[in-house]
Amino acid sequence: MDLAFKPEELAFRDEVRAFIRDKYPQEIRARARKGWSYLPKEDHIRWQKLLYDRGWIAPHWPKEYGGTGWTARQKFIFEEECMAAGCPRLIPFGLTMVGPVIYTFGSQAQKDRFLPPILRSDEWWCQGYSEPGSGSDLASLQTKAVKEGNQYRVNGSKIWTSGAHKADWMFCLVRTKADVKAQEGISFLLIDMKSPGISVKPIVSIDEGHYLNQVFIDDVMVPVENLVGEENKGWTYAKFLLGYERTGIAGVGRSKMRLEMLKGIARAEHMDGTPLIQDPGFQTRLAQIESDLMALEITNLRVMASSGAGGGSLASLLKIRGTEIEQSINQTLVDALGNYGVPYDVNFPRAESNEPPAGPDYAIGLAAENLLKRAASIYGGTNEIQRNIIAKMVLAL
Ligand SMILES: Cc1cc2nc3c(=O)[nH]c(=O)nc-3n(C[C@H](O)[C@H](O)[C@H](O)COP(=O)(O)OP(=O)(O)OC[C@H]3O[C@@H](n4cnc5c(N)ncnc54)[C@H](O)[C@@H]3O)c2cc1C
Repeated sequence: MDLAFKPEELAFRDEVRAFIRDKYPQEIRARARKGWSYLPKEDHIRWQKLLYDRGWIAPHWPKEYGGTGWTARQKFIFEEECMAAGCPRLIPFGLTMVGPVIYTFGSQAQKDRFLPPILRSDEWWCQGYSEPGSGSDLASLQTKAVKEGNQYRVNGSKIWTSGAHKADWMFCLVRTKADVKAQEGISFLLIDMKSPGISVKPIVSIDEGHYLNQVFIDDVMVPVENLVGEENKGWTYAKFLLGYERTGIAGVGRSKMRLEMLKGIARAEHMDGTPLIQDPGFQTRLAQIESDLMALEITNLRVMASSGAGGGSLASLLKIRGTEIEQSINQTLVDALGNYGVPYDVNFPRAESNEPPAGPDYAIGLAAENLLKRAASIYGGTNEIQRNIIAKMVLAL
């Protein structure tokens, strides 16, 4: 298989680069450099609307629903260029997760109601899957929905709900049948976060940021037309969605960008009077990361070129390697900073902060990011669970 880009793909890459150069607002660029994981919602909306106006907001969607009609390699180029330029990530809950579920399994009325505001970034979503007692063993979830006339009465609690405090809607797994195999009694409901009975409690993470929440659902009434697909078939839709979620987590473009940042810092930082980049021990570490990342990039491209998708065990594989490499880069960045990598409050200033940094500008946010992204091997299904999936699907163990 030929992995080199063809002339028309190189022309497409130039087009993407020119768009980013001309349209990516300078002030968001500056904030993203300080705290990419905690950009204000308005920055994400502004960037996503610029992409929407250009017709590039949903490369993975079919053209009939607002997708771009790009080849798998064009999608790869686009993602890579956006990440390499430090553009805000596309908030995945609507575009990458519930959108594909709705256009694949939803009713016409649901498609008409929900897809356009997702594309325009006018409505934000969160993912109500995990519960206090159900993470890896998600099928054991207990949030209950009981049909009363043309509504469901929903009771329960969801946890680790990223961005719930900013979301307008939550796609939510609920139990609609108890006396069957766990996976067979689950349904997929769309819940308006403004519904009476929804309350959101913040969970502050190890980096002192607010990204996570617990959502309490007390006697929340949900119209039956917000059920996606068939009742008790939600597990099928939930698994379909997870394939999309995990592929995006590989993050090759962003890791490439961070690797370049690491090299820059290693040139600037000194150890015993010598630039860190000349230290043989550091060089070995750098070379290991670089070769791992190249291998992941080629694997990612190969997957896309052969099947155009990364579902099932391939999504698991990309998720494991992508997050391992991301964590390894983050740790090496922090190590390279020496003193400025240790006390994370020193590097804490976020996009919205006016505090002057104590260390060099390039140290800002790196220790906090390293701590936050320890969770990358947990969210989207832990890496241990991904290994179990590979063991079952590929090795038939
Ligand atoms: C930053 C962050 C954001 C998140 N965002 C969301 C969100 O928006 N929406 C949402 O619904 N959820 C979200 N989650 C939850 C996430 O999906 C769960 O944390 C994850 O599925 C693991 O579940 P758990 O935390 O209950 O851990 P557990 O399932 O209790 O696992 C604990 C440990 O045991 C291991 N383990 C468990 N079972 C097995 C097994 N069978 N074989 C081998 N090892 C096993 C796990 O790998 C893990 O190391 C988020 C989590 C984090 C950390």
